[in-house]
Amino acid sequence: MSGFQEYFGEKHDKVRRSVREFVEREIKPFVDEWEEKGEFPEELYPKAGEAGILGIGYPDAYGGCGGDVFVKIACSEELMRCGSAGVVAGLGSLDIGIPPILAMGTEEQKLRFVPPVLKGHRIAALGITEPSGGSDVASIRTRATLFGDHYVVNGSKMFITSGVRANQLTCAVRTGGEGFGGISLLVIDSDTPGYSTSEKLEKMGWWPSDTAQIFFDECRIPVENLLGREGQGFYGIMENFQSERLGLAIMANMTSQLALEESLKYVRERGAAGQPYFDQQVTRHKLADMATLVEASREFVYRVAAKINAGENQVKEISMAKNFSCMVSDNVTYGAAQIHDRFGYMRGYLVERLCRDNRILSIGGGTQEIMKEIIVKYILT
Ligand SMILES: Cc1cc2nc3c(=O)[nH]c(=O)nc-3n(C[C@H](O)[C@H](O)[C@H](O)COP(=O)(O)OP(=O)(O)OC[C@H]3O[C@@H](n4cnc5c(N)ncnc54)[C@H](O)[C@@H]3O)c2cc1C
Repeated sequence: MSGFQEYFGEKHDKVRRSVREFVEREIKPFVDEWEEKGEFPEELYPKAGEAGILGIGYPDAYGGCGGDVFVKIACSEELMRCGSAGVVAGLGSLDIGIPPILAMGTEEQKLRFVPPVLKGHRIAALGITEPSGGSDVASIRTRATLFGDHYVVNGSKMFITSGVRANQLTCAVRTGGEGFGGISLLVIDSDTPGYSTSEKLEKMGWWPSDTAQIFFDECRIPVENLLGREGQGFYGIMENFQSERLGLAIMANMTSQLALEESLKYVRERGAAGQPYFDQQVTRHKLADMATLVEASREFVYRVAAKINAGENQVKEISMAKNFSCMVSDNVTYGAAQIHDRFGYMRGYLVERLCRDNRILSIGGGTQEIMKEIIVKYILT
């Protein structure tokens, strides 16, 4: 990573080292077993909390370790080196559930909802998507009606990461009329009577990540759990998407990086028809193209992250970065499987898992098509 000194310094290296150590000790030895089982143990949350991993990038005042955007990036990159994006997504669901609380919550709400999650004692999730769809956030149907000092919530959320295990859900609800102005954000405790979940949903990839549907049947939520004012939810959700999309772009780049590294390893070890793969020009050129794409994508995402770090509006650029890094990870994982020939299709090879896990990245957190809609809105005005 020496080429990126303008983004990463000593404090980032320190974070990298401690996350790497945690990954080597607490995740890597067990990751294949967790993948096959389709879940990782819940004890990983308090372990990661105690090691300070969950608090990286969050304010000290609420139990975090502080740090800029690049501290978070260093942490995510090292976590992805465990080889299971499903573990990273499940362990990291707080990264979409907590930021709206920090951005919109009162001091009392931040102190109540954030420290237990950063310690790993409670699991946080984000509930936006509904069975009717996720792209058109302004049309959500889950209804929260105010009766005295409680909202009564009815409806359902779909495809929620950490959905079965979550103790608290930062949830988009309709408190007002139609459209984006009628949306608010409530923090909903999973212990609330009337709150229930589906079984864990079976997925193409991200196997150890728990994904579920959540149902609300006359759930009474105290008014003190409303984030910001009624009707402000849509803006909070849109703001939150920026860091989620940056996180997904980093995931895509690391997926590409790992696929490239696996391919380099593979061609050094193997050959066909008496010729080592690394001597075949077609393979050499494929590797050169993959490496070029990985480098370009990483550099672009870092550049956008640096601007976000400096407080610049990067809504268009982060949409471009998410789409570009996913286009690259689609291309590189496909190429890596091809280089691995029949083994690229076989369980037990990391490349096979990378191909499956990669597919969600251009869907979650805003689809490729929605990113294009955002980009074109900016460039056509
Ligand atoms: C593994 C996994 C984990 C997830 N985790 C979470 C989570 O934790 N919390 C959460 O809230 N959601 C989560 N989601 C949901 C995810 O964010 C949505 O799948 C995503 O936002 C897209 O919504 P949708 O699938 O409902 O597609 P839809 O919104 O129904 O869209 C269907 C298709 O139409 C296209 N489309 C829609 N509108 C337009 C338009 N205006 N122009 C062009 N094309 C359009 C879309 O691109 C898509 O291809 C998760 C999903 C998965 C699969």
